[in-house]
Amino acid sequence: MATATEGDARRPVYLDNAATTRARPEVVDAVVTALQERFGNPASIHTAGLEAERLVKEARSVLAAALEVPADDLYFTSGGTEANNWALRGVLAAYARRGRHLVTTAIEHSSILSTARRLEAEGHRVTIVPVDRQGRVDPERVAAAVADDTVLVSIMLVNNEIGSIQPVADIVRAVRARRPDVLVHVDAVQAFGKLPVKPRAWGVDLVTVSAHKIHGPKGTGALYVRRGVRIQPLLVGGEQEGGLRPGTHNVPGIAGFGVAARLILAEQPELSRRMHALKLRLVQRVQAEIPDVYVNGPDPDEGAPHIVNLSVVGARGEVLVHALAQRGVYVSTGSACTSRRTAPSHVLQALGLPPERLDSALRISLSRETTEEDVERFVAALKEAAAEVRAVAAVRGRR
Ligand code: PMP
Repeated sequence: MATATEGDARRPVYLDNAATTRARPEVVDAVVTALQERFGNPASIHTAGLEAERLVKEARSVLAAALEVPADDLYFTSGGTEANNWALRGVLAAYARRGRHLVTTAIEHSSILSTARRLEAEGHRVTIVPVDRQGRVDPERVAAAVADDTVLVSIMLVNNEIGSIQPVADIVRAVRARRPDVLVHVDAVQAFGKLPVKPRAWGVDLVTVSAHKIHGPKGTGALYVRRGVRIQPLLVGGEQEGGLRPGTHNVPGIAGFGVAARLILAEQPELSRRMHALKLRLVQRVQAEIPDVYVNGPDPDEGAPHIVNLSVVGARGEVLVHALAQRGVYVSTGSACTSRRTAPSHVLQALGLPPERLDSALRISLSRETTEEDVERFVAALKEAAAEVRAVAAVRGRR
C-alpha cells in the first residue's frame, strides 16, 4: 500500500481555504470576459462603458440579495482588509462629535486590531473585550464595555483561525439596550457563503465581505453601510461608489465576485452541511489515529463548518506545516496575514491556552472542493508528520 510519503504525484490536498480558495471556472470566465470583452470603464458613457457598468450593477444586485440589503448600500473595495479599515476609520471620523470610543474583541482579524491600535495612538479610546475558552464573546460583556462616548462596536461573525461564531444578534440587542445609537460593524469575511449573514434582521449597520474566500478573485471585497449611517471616505478622487470609494472599478474582480456569490449561495445550506460532516470526520479520524491532539476553540460540533484548529502537542505547528507540505498537504498555523511571524497567535492566546498548545497549533480549513479522500490523505500525512516531528523534538529534548 502506498504511504503518504511515497513521491505523491496526486493533486495536493489543499486544506487552507480560510487563507484563500481556488477561483471556480465560472468565475474565471467572468473575469476573462470582463478583461477582454467588456473591458470598458464603467464611468464612460459609450456602449463599452455601459456594458462594464452593467457587470458592476449585476454583481452589486447579487450581493445585495445575498445580504438582504438595498444594492445602493453596498460599496466595492479592494478586499476585506480595506473594508475593515474603512469601517472603523470612516465611522469614527464621521461621528467625532459623538465620541471617540471603539469596542472590539481580542480575536479580530489583524485588519481590525491593527486599525484599532492606530486609532488609539491617534487619540481614540479602544476597549478590547475578551473571549471564553471556546472563542465566544459574552454579549453582556460587550454591552458593559459601551460608554457614553462609544461610537462603534466591531465584531467578527466567524473567526478565521478557530471558526468560533459570535452571537451577533444577541450582541446587538445587548448593546442597544444600553445605548440605542451605538453603531455595529460585522466582519463577515469568513462567514459569507457558509452561514446566513443578515444585517437588517440583526440590526447591524456595516458588514465586510471578501470575494477570494468564496472562490472569487483576490483583491475584491465590499462594505455594506446602512443608509443613514455616516462614513468618511479613506480615499478621495472620482465619483465612483457615490464618491465614497473613488477609483476606476475593478470590473473583472467585481464581476467574478458576483458570480462566486451567486453560485455559493445557490449551494447553501447543503454545502455547509457537507463541510460540517467532513470536518467532524476529520477531527474524529485524527483523534483516533494520533495521540495527544486537541481541538482549540469551539467544540467541532459547533463552530463554522469549514474551520478547525488542532494542537498536535509535542510538535511545533510551523514544522508540521512544512512536513505536511512535503507530503502534498497544505494547511497553516493560523491566519495567512500573520503566518510569517513566529509569535503565537493572538487568537489562541486569547483562549488562554497553555504554551504547548499555542506552539503546536494547525488550522485546517475546508471548501466545496474538499472530499473524503482529502480527509483520509490528510490524516495519513499528519500521522507520519507528527511521529517524525515528535521523534526529532524528543531527541533534541534529551540533549
Ligand atoms: N477578516 C477576516 C476574518 C479574514 O479572514 C480576512 C482574510 N484573511 C480578512 C478580514 C481580510 O480580507 P482580504 O484578504 O480580502 O483583505
